[in-house]
Amino acid sequence: MQISLQHQVALVTGGSSGIGAAVAAALAKAGAAVAINYHSQREPAQKLADKIVADGGKAIAVGADVGSQADVDRMFAQTLDAFGRLDILVANSGLQRDAGIDDMTLDDWNTVINTNLTGQFLCAQAAIRQFTRQDIQPNGSRARGKIIHMSSVHQRVPWAGHVNYAASKGGVDLLMQSLAQEVSERGIRVNSIAPGAIATPINQENTKGEAGEKLLELIPYGRIGDVEDVANATVWLASDLSDYVVGTTLFIDGGMSVYPEFRDNG
Ligand code: NAD
Repeated sequence: MQISLQHQVALVTGGSSGIGAAVAAALAKAGAAVAINYHSQREPAQKLADKIVADGGKAIAVGADVGSQADVDRMFAQTLDAFGRLDILVANSGLQRDAGIDDMTLDDWNTVINTNLTGQFLCAQAAIRQFTRQDIQPNGSRARGKIIHMSSVHQRVPWAGHVNYAASKGGVDLLMQSLAQEVSERGIRVNSIAPGAIATPINQENTKGEAGEKLLELIPYGRIGDVEDVANATVWLASDLSDYVVGTTLFIDGGMSVYPEFRDNG
């Protein structure tokens, strides 16, 4: 079945690399106009936007720190200036500042919470305000708007040495569910995707060589994920094929979250 996002506008945060770049490309391929947010790396975001346009699609690159209210306001204004409306938000920006609890600084904690959780709050709030004030697109989606939070298996799986990251993703889970409870009656669908181990810049030291082999022990399906695994699911979750899916987290993790350590144990 062909999925079409024609006549719809998507904003993807953290779209200059990894999962966000693949998601932006996949949404554009499905027909959506895409605003590709970058934080510090304008060039790859602009390159991706140029490629989408060269292939006949619509795209712009938009700079913003998702943890800053002023930046988020500007990013939404630029998206609306370019495309006139918004139908899909993929709140994907995220980072890690890893340290054991004895060494984790307040700055490590605040930086991760500010981007991974406050950033998701600010973008979701701005998207919900826009969805609420605009008309449903006649040729667009059944929903008034769709939000997809990029969470992580670590919204469920505790992660020693990464308490800031796990706490931020645990927060995203209840942010998503509470928003879904609050705004579904407006016709807005809010859901999350929880990737497992996907090979991207965020984890390149852990997905290759010996570390990669060790990581495979945690993945029953036997391979590390590709960005396309997440991008394909995001397109589905943004489309009307998932129109009755509300307040759910879709785990895309090769089975990492089903506690593979218990296969021969416990
Ligand atoms: P990545 O490092 O390639 O992408 C993260 C993106 O977030 C980058 O484009 C970066 O510029 C952007 N970003 C960081 N701080 C920002 C800020 N303040 N404002 C705006 N953008 C900012 O890594 P990725 O793996 O593609 O990560 C994307 C998302 O997927 C993250 O939320 C991450 O937590 C989540 N995730 C990734 C994996 C994985 O295995 N790769 C697993 C679970 C969850």
